Amino acid sequence: RKFPEGSNMYTLMTKCGPLFDFISFSALVPLTGGIESPLFPVAYLIILHITVYWRLLGGVISAFLFVLTYSLIFFVQVPDAAAADTYVMYASRVIFLLMIGGLGGIIVSRERKHHTEKNVLAEAANRDYLTNLLNHRSFQECLRKDLERGTDFYLVLTDIDKFKAVNDKYGHVMGDEVLREIGAILSAMVPAKQGRVFRYGGEEFALILHTDNQEEVDKLLIQVKQAVADHVFYSNGEAFSVTMSFGSCRQNGEAPDQLVKKADKLLYAAKNMGRNRIVYAPAG
Ligand code: GH3
Ligand code: MG
Ligand code: MG
Repeated sequence: RKFPEGSNMYTLMTKCGPLFDFISFSALVPLTGGIESPLFPVAYLIILHITVYWRLLGGVISAFLFVLTYSLIFFVQVPDAAAADTYVMYASRVIFLLMIGGLGGIIVSRERKHHTEKNVLAEAANRDYLTNLLNHRSFQECLRKDLERGTDFYLVLTDIDKFKAVNDKYGHVMGDEVLREIGAILSAMVPAKQGRVFRYGGEEFALILHTDNQEEVDKLLIQVKQAVADHVFYSNGEAFSVTMSFGSCRQNGEAPDQLVKKADKLLYAAKNMGRNRIVYAPAG
């Protein structure tokens, strides 16, 4: 294909489709009987097609263009003293063209608005309000889907170390800020094509990493752990930092809650071993 889907040229060519339709229509109708042409109803389809791209404005403008073309053909073809019902047919077709343009445009516009609103709501339902990461419900859904698909991935649970102390010392508002900044670090370091970042709950996050390469996961987690530890937070001019513990394991066809339990145990082990570390499932 010359113009790949999604390119500007592709969009332009697609959008020009109705224009070519219009030109061929204007050429074909006079050749196939003018006002009697059996092709005439195609005008309705072309107008509806145009409303899909240009909504109400496109619908109204194209309806007027069709009325213009049709009127031209009509007045060239019809003798001055035609029967009254010829004019009635002319008027009813003009009205119908304008109605199709107007109503089609309104319907498409309403539908688009509804669609956008629905997407905004669906997006909000999947996001965590504080960090704007994907939320727990989204995590459960992704985990279930990935397990059903049977694709290889690693599940990582990670939890901020001694976070209660941050809240106690700097206040809950600062605690929230720490969660936001850590969320931003995590999403910046895990590109969408590599995996997803979720706020699992409280000060716990989950990563689903789409790979079968343990080394790749290790490398990424070491970088993430370091980036978090290196990040400096400021509270009223006082600088502080936090660390995180990680539990990481590869999916092995178990049920979602079993896999979470497995990762959680590894995270718990990391805490017991002194925190600020990554614990992997034994290879195999
Ligand atoms: P550990 O190293 O064992 O994880 O210790 P910890 O203090 O991090 O763990 P603990 O579970 O005792 O405390 C977690 C704290 O996280 C308690 C809770 O108040 C706080 N927390 C959970 N969600 C939020 C939140 O949305 N905002 C703030 N500011 N704090 C939160
Ligand atoms: Mg904690
Ligand atoms: Mg916790």
